[in-house]
Amino acid sequence: MAILDQLTSQQAIDLENKYGAHNYHPLPVVLTRGEGVYVWDIDGKQYYDFLSAYSAVNQGHCHPKIVNAMVQQAQTLTLTSRAFHNDMLGKFEKFACEFFGFDKLLPMNTGAEAVETALKLCRKWAYEVKGISENEADIIVCENNFHGRTTTIISFSNDPVARKHFGPFTKGFIKIEYNNLEALEIALKNNPNVAGFLVEPIQGEAGVYVPSDDYLIKAKALCELYNVLFIADEVQTGIARTGRLLATCGNCTCETKNCSDTPDVKPDILILGKAISGGVYPVSAVLANDSIMKVIQPGNHGSTFGGNPVAAAVAIAALEVVRDEKLAENAYQLGNLFRSELQKYIDKSSIVKLVRGKGLLNAIVINDDEDSETAWNICLALRDNGLLAKPTHGNIIRFAPPLVMTKDELLDCVGIIIKTLKQFE
Ligand SMILES: *Cc1c(COP(=O)(O)O)cnc(C)c1O
Repeated sequence: MAILDQLTSQQAIDLENKYGAHNYHPLPVVLTRGEGVYVWDIDGKQYYDFLSAYSAVNQGHCHPKIVNAMVQQAQTLTLTSRAFHNDMLGKFEKFACEFFGFDKLLPMNTGAEAVETALKLCRKWAYEVKGISENEADIIVCENNFHGRTTTIISFSNDPVARKHFGPFTKGFIKIEYNNLEALEIALKNNPNVAGFLVEPIQGEAGVYVPSDDYLIKAKALCELYNVLFIADEVQTGIARTGRLLATCGNCTCETKNCSDTPDVKPDILILGKAISGGVYPVSAVLANDSIMKVIQPGNHGSTFGGNPVAAAVAIAALEVVRDEKLAENAYQLGNLFRSELQKYIDKSSIVKLVRGKGLLNAIVINDDEDSETAWNICLALRDNGLLAKPTHGNIIRFAPPLVMTKDELLDCVGIIIKTLKQFE
């Protein structure tokens, strides 16, 4: 078959199965086009995207402003490597530092790379500033975390599927229960070698676990007390997803007035990815103030593509869209509406236990065994009814539409979801 021949859905799936490694288990739907909150499959059927590429497409599919910035820059200069300067990187760094309230930014490409960067930065700070003896630095992480797929990152995962037969693993990580301040204090108290605490403000992959309102601020205070860096992985929660610019929100320029439900926390190290490009191009970043970032010197760390001019142009445009279209505010309003509408149904439902989340990062927990197929089957039925979502660990379905959604569209989606769930009662 010629490369430009239009495939049927089955042909596209067969090609992936035959020639692609089987490292994912996609929902059987083959998408060919996207615009805003919608995607279309090969047969022209339209769907609401309720995953947004794991919260990368917060600005909506193929946002014209972001795509235009990419096309313009791609026709001008795409890659210089960091062997030379380019005239876009500094603009991006300034924009993002001012936007999120930090002194400096280190650009990478994927979320996992940014997490790796943050871990290296934290350890180097521990040896050179805090004064921990060489090779002794520990980093505290949380159970059921998801921070990416590199060997070091899976070293502190507790998902057997992600870890099995990939060892030996990287040492120096201490795992504690999420949303447990006592566990954090114990881990900090008797160990002078702790360099950092790495945490997701909401555990997305684990099933959208929202910690108690005072968890992050008290965890940050404990970190300060023990001179330990508070590292926020906002790859999924960041950039307006949870109804504020950052789920931690300390010092950022978010104009929503909704930050009062959770106190502001300023991380020492902020990790961003996914929506920093609106899903148009792989861009990630680590932000920190000078007192920390100063430990990184030429040759310590880098990436051929990190900080390339296309990434810089795309990221500036993507962040401008978040600001100009007030996406944090919209996510806040629509998130409250989504949960309250679903709650009315759940009060009478036997198939759904609960809905939880913040802004437009939400999940429902299905009332069935962890290893049953119910969540998967509901997602197949949602697909048939025109809405795409995916189960996450156990019997949980995450709902994370693009943040450019309107109220009418959201209510339409709530209707589809409830209609579908009723088929399973
Ligand atoms: C997706 C994700 C990552 C990894 O990002 P990749 O771009 O897939 O490497 C890291 N942390 C969190 C919280 C994520 O959701």
